[in-house]
Amino acid sequence: MVLHVRGVLLPDDETVDLWLDGDRVSRSPLPGAETISDGGFILPGLVDAHCHPGIAPGGGPIGSLDEARELALVDRDAGVLAIRDAGSPYPYPELDDDPEMPRLARAGRHIAPPRRYLRGIGVEVAAADVPATVREQARAGNGWVKLVGDWLERDAGDLAPAWDAATMTAAVEAAHAAGVRAAVHTFSESAVEIMVRAGVDSVEHGTGLSLDLVDEMARRGTALVPTMINIETFGGIAERAREKFPGYAKHMLALRDGFPDVVRAAYEAGVPIYLGTDAGGGIEHGMAAAEMLLLHTRAGMSALDALAAGSWRAREWLGFPGLVEGGLADLVVYDRDPRADLRVVTAPRRIVLRGRVVR
Ligand SMILES: [Zn+2]
Repeated sequence: MVLHVRGVLLPDDETVDLWLDGDRVSRSPLPGAETISDGGFILPGLVDAHCHPGIAPGGGPIGSLDEARELALVDRDAGVLAIRDAGSPYPYPELDDDPEMPRLARAGRHIAPPRRYLRGIGVEVAAADVPATVREQARAGNGWVKLVGDWLERDAGDLAPAWDAATMTAAVEAAHAAGVRAAVHTFSESAVEIMVRAGVDSVEHGTGLSLDLVDEMARRGTALVPTMINIETFGGIAERAREKFPGYAKHMLALRDGFPDVVRAAYEAGVPIYLGTDAGGGIEHGMAAAEMLLLHTRAGMSALDALAAGSWRAREWLGFPGLVEGGLADLVVYDRDPRADLRVVTAPRRIVLRGRVVR
């Protein structure tokens, strides 16, 4: 069955006809097509570039492949047609080619120091074993590895880098030698500095970024995935930690309060920014549109750039071609122009994934 869609394609901003032949896009007419959408505004789907279908609601690993599928389908039904899994304690490579699943760019398990990350999530190793573990997790994923750059250090009572600069540099080099990119979880000022200078490809959260470091990221082309929904949970984290770790609690609140300005500075400096919700554990799936609105309203990204961060530009970054001749047959259609009112992205009228109508 060949599908036909007509509408205004963003960001090109022109009315186009698209024919979807299986999982491929044709920009020239194909015979026997059924028109499934005429009018509205077309995107190649939303992207959640920081998502955890392998982490169960409430925390801990999921229990089955079906659970990963169910969680990712919540995102898909909100218009998310590509996901970067930013670390999974439960491997699910079987789902990469599942016709129901959003496109998957996956890291293996989080790589963390012993007892310095969420229990049961990461593979926990000493500094000397980091490069070998990176190679192993590069094979478990399909293009990414995920490093834990910092976490609460109980003895110090504050955030502290997971490893020293030499170990982090070796980790990033091992990832690149294995042909994958490295993403790093960082909240603190010290860890993000180590990681950016170590040449990491993608900074996750990045609350500790300084203006100098933002310029360095722009110069290097290092990506930032700010996960603004996650940062809004820092108040609860601080509340729960206040009694035992008052310094840490205070630090987390300061990072939260300074954060929208960090993202704004990164945006103004030209750092490539991508949308990520950090769904999994304490954050629900299906929140990509909400995260996009935060990038727009709180971090000052223009509607067009917020759309790009959570759609075509993110797909390009992850290696999923969009609505070009021979591209992948993923699209969402909105009734009204999301550039004029970004809230439109919460209500897709049509969703097509891998050439199949979802809605
Ligand atoms: Zn995460």
